[in-house]
Amino acid sequence: MDKNQALWNQRVAQTIMENLEKRHMTASYAESGTQALEEVLAMIPKGSTVYRCGSLTTTTIGVWKRLSEMAGIQVIDPYRHGLSHEESLELRHKGLGADIMISSCNAVTLDGRLVSLDGLGNRAAAMMFGPRKVILVVGMNKVSDDLDSALSRVKNYAAPVNAIRLGVETPCGRDGICHDCRSSQRICNMWSIIEGNKIPGRIHVKLVGETLGY
Ligand code: SF4
Repeated sequence: MDKNQALWNQRVAQTIMENLEKRHMTASYAESGTQALEEVLAMIPKGSTVYRCGSLTTTTIGVWKRLSEMAGIQVIDPYRHGLSHEESLELRHKGLGADIMISSCNAVTLDGRLVSLDGLGNRAAAMMFGPRKVILVVGMNKVSDDLDSALSRVKNYAAPVNAIRLGVETPCGRDGICHDCRSSQRICNMWSIIEGNKIPGRIHVKLVGETLGY
């Protein structure tokens, strides 16, 4: 990676981590997805149930592959191949009672707010009050200056590019631009903005000095 970009990542991550901690969340920084993977896995006690929420970031760094190989870990995975829609929904309900969820958010602000936008809302619901521990892996490409720019990033970039990734039949899936549609396939229905945390140690944000996810 470019040396200056690496230094920017480290320095900006430091500011965000301090601001997350002021909001009673915990945070750490990994220079690479590889490092982040090992540090996240080290946070999962044997015997845990782990809820998989939709996240290209965690899939990209290999979280689900590695967890599936670890003895004594039960992954609640609504994305398992071959599940019916009803079975997948049932697992999304079950995941809310897991010990740990691992996912990402769609933007993090310099002052430590976490912004996400879901189609179904299961990730947003789980982040807010579900699993006893929440681990969010967030690439530094998701840093936004403030809440307004985070909301814009998520709605006008993350949602359309995810629509393209998922091949959904929405206007943004065709041209990459949000048209504030009313499609039944709409992937951006439920917002979550996390401004703080009241359960000590519940939310941990792992910032990563790489471009990960959207
Ligand atoms: S409102 Fe519709 S067009 Fe806009 S990002 Fe969401 S799914 Fe795409």
